[in-house]
Amino acid sequence: MLDMQTQAELIALCQDLLAIPSYSGAEKAVADQILLYMRARDFDMAYTDEYGNVLGCIRGKRPGKRILFDGHIDTVPAENRSDWKHDPFGAEMDGSRIYGRGATDMKGSVAAFLTAVSIFAQQTNRDFAGEIWVAGVVHEECFEGIAARKISAAVKPDLVIIGEASEMNLKCSQRGRAEVVLETFGIPCHSSNPEKGVNAVYAALQIIQRFCDLPPIEQEGMFGKGILELTDIQSAPYPGKSVVPHYCKATFDRRLLVGETRESVLAPLQAIIDELSAADPTLKAQVSFAAGKETCYTGAEIAADRFFPAWRADTDVPYVQAIYKAVRAMGYAPELTGYSFCTNGSHYGGEAGIPCIGIGPSRENLAHTVDEYIEIQELIDICRYDIAVCNAMMDPAAPVDVE
Ligand SMILES: [Zn+2]
Repeated sequence: MLDMQTQAELIALCQDLLAIPSYSGAEKAVADQILLYMRARDFDMAYTDEYGNVLGCIRGKRPGKRILFDGHIDTVPAENRSDWKHDPFGAEMDGSRIYGRGATDMKGSVAAFLTAVSIFAQQTNRDFAGEIWVAGVVHEECFEGIAARKISAAVKPDLVIIGEASEMNLKCSQRGRAEVVLETFGIPCHSSNPEKGVNAVYAALQIIQRFCDLPPIEQEGMFGKGILELTDIQSAPYPGKSVVPHYCKATFDRRLLVGETRESVLAPLQAIIDELSAADPTLKAQVSFAAGKETCYTGAEIAADRFFPAWRADTDVPYVQAIYKAVRAMGYAPELTGYSFCTNGSHYGGEAGIPCIGIGPSRENLAHTVDEYIEIQELIDICRYDIAVCNAMMDPAAPVDVE
């Protein structure tokens, strides 16, 4: 167990973070709160970067690996406020839970690793090897892994611990995602004589049907398939008054498996377009990835295509096994499993090839919900996990006792 005072401080920190709204692009106040915490806890470094990510570091007395605890500090909006029984920014404790937007996704986890790292530094008197970094990352909710690029460039971690909800299991893989855009181009005309034009929506429908017939790829060790799901269709002009539409755009959510690239994802889709347009020269279409652009609270802009790759670690690699053993030694029975949703790990593990593991409290299906909450016991347990990670990875002269 963590001692009672530490538990109370952890709960208070979680509540402090939950009381501050921090929608994507408006995370400054919560980043400042985390900076205050890091400075009060004698972190060796604490700063915000160009994008507004908040970073802190504690250095051991001996050289060694750099590990990074990553948690995003933005949340999705608290919509349907009247449906919430607990104020989304009230950080209310009720029974065994703390309620609030971001409790599961993922301010609870951020509070836990901040606490764990500060306890580890204090109780080891920094007699460990390497550096422990913590990052509160902006703009994850709709732009996974893009703001994190700045962090990996600054920190160059040897291992990243993704704090997203894992139900206290160890996540060794994660599906990625991409937003695929299909555009078709027709010829407008009066809809009373449609044969005079080319209807862009009919063209899109043909292609969409063929896209949907493609079997999703599967991989052993990945949780979920490489599915392609239509998410919206727009036509122009809209509304179309007695006119054959000249343009249609359909967006798909494509979940990605390990090794899939921009080229490999588009190739089979382009082949369908090539085949159909060879058979019908009036069919004009193109397929690409959606472009994303967001403004950070610092004023900096982040822009990238919406392609967030997957990653996977073998469950028998030494860091996974070391963390697994450390957590089991405390009496927990985590499963070695994978995330089916997308996280900042898309950058660290997928783009940058840095070893990753996911360790977080709570269930992913509590994220983004009305009356989002975290179980206080899980908040405490995950803090112990995070200390166990430090014990396992940082070679402390005397491991911190979390019994
Ligand atoms: Zn999240």
